[in-house]
Amino acid sequence: MKTIFHLDMDAFFVSVERILDPSLEGKPVIVGGDPNGRGVVAACSYEARKYGIHSAMPVKNAYRLCPKALFLHGHYKEYVRYSNAVKFLLEEKFQLVQQASVDEFYFDFTGCEKIYGKPEEFAKKLQDEIQHKFSLPCSIGISSNKGVSKIATDFKKPRGITFVPHGKEKEFLAPLAVERIPGVGKKTFPILRARGFKTIGDIANASPDYLAAVLGKFGTDIWNRAKGFGNDILSVEHDRKSISKETTFNQDIVGKTEIENHLFELAAKVAQLLRNENFQASTVSIKLRYSDFSTITRAKTLHEPTDDDKIIFETAAKLFHNAYSRRVGVRLIGIHLSNLSHSSEQEVLFEDEDIIRKRMLNAVTKIRDKFGDKAIHIGAEGKN
Ligand SMILES: [Mg+2]
Repeated sequence: MKTIFHLDMDAFFVSVERILDPSLEGKPVIVGGDPNGRGVVAACSYEARKYGIHSAMPVKNAYRLCPKALFLHGHYKEYVRYSNAVKFLLEEKFQLVQQASVDEFYFDFTGCEKIYGKPEEFAKKLQDEIQHKFSLPCSIGISSNKGVSKIATDFKKPRGITFVPHGKEKEFLAPLAVERIPGVGKKTFPILRARGFKTIGDIANASPDYLAAVLGKFGTDIWNRAKGFGNDILSVEHDRKSISKETTFNQDIVGKTEIENHLFELAAKVAQLLRNENFQASTVSIKLRYSDFSTITRAKTLHEPTDDDKIIFETAAKLFHNAYSRRVGVRLIGIHLSNLSHSSEQEVLFEDEDIIRKRMLNAVTKIRDKFGDKAIHIGAEGKN
């Protein structure tokens, strides 16, 4: 059994708008543009929802329901920036984080109790951390799979936490209205209603064949969901053909030399991983995150694939020097190797110097495997 978290930001766009303009606090706010325009409501505050306004509604209709509401065009770049900030925070804590939309994430908590404690208690701490760091409220749902966790998040909003213990999924879902199932909307809802399905429990108790006859494949799908079954595999954008390491600093750092030292350490680590797997890389990239969470990446493709610390470091350092233009603290630095190929045993084809260097690197690999990264450093210009 897994423990899957679903985290959804509460009225996300509005929350970000309120950070940008605190005077919006406590007022009905609608993001979606001109009240007389053709747009639809992208987001609305809970104060606006009291008037019956909801997202995806034409802005014109929203205006009719609540003319005194504040209509904003929205700052989409800012939403992405805050969304990334939340994502990075989760990625710092969890191996598997799946971003489902700009303000929605799944992450796999399985086996994390030893580090973070009970899921519900951790959820509270996480919610507080996100509120404290970014002034953003969110709600969290926890269960054994993604489907139930998503419904659980929606169960209590805003600032809710809903924990569905293993084995209680069906029980939790049973009293909820059918439209709580994602995907049951304008099309499906009337069909289900007409056949007397009011709650998710009604669906769970029906025969799957009947639902399949009424709704086709989607019928079988919602029957499974109503039973509390669901997918517990997170789809994380995995580039298997790459190796990367990054360092997040406890305190933002500014000095070029200090950042360079970290790059040197990282280069040693990624090169080590590369050689452990008998790979060579053709592309070296760096990732640089500033204290304001803006992130840049720069890449360079080499003339020849390499697994050499020195070449990786020098390439990364050059990329860093060209990219580091702002006088802002750096929060994270990373090196990413891609375009990997298997190192062949064709060392004889290289120049003598390369052979010697390769042998040395292999020896270094063996020493590091035995004694760890700190055991040995390979010289690079100005370093040792
Ligand atoms: Mg949301």
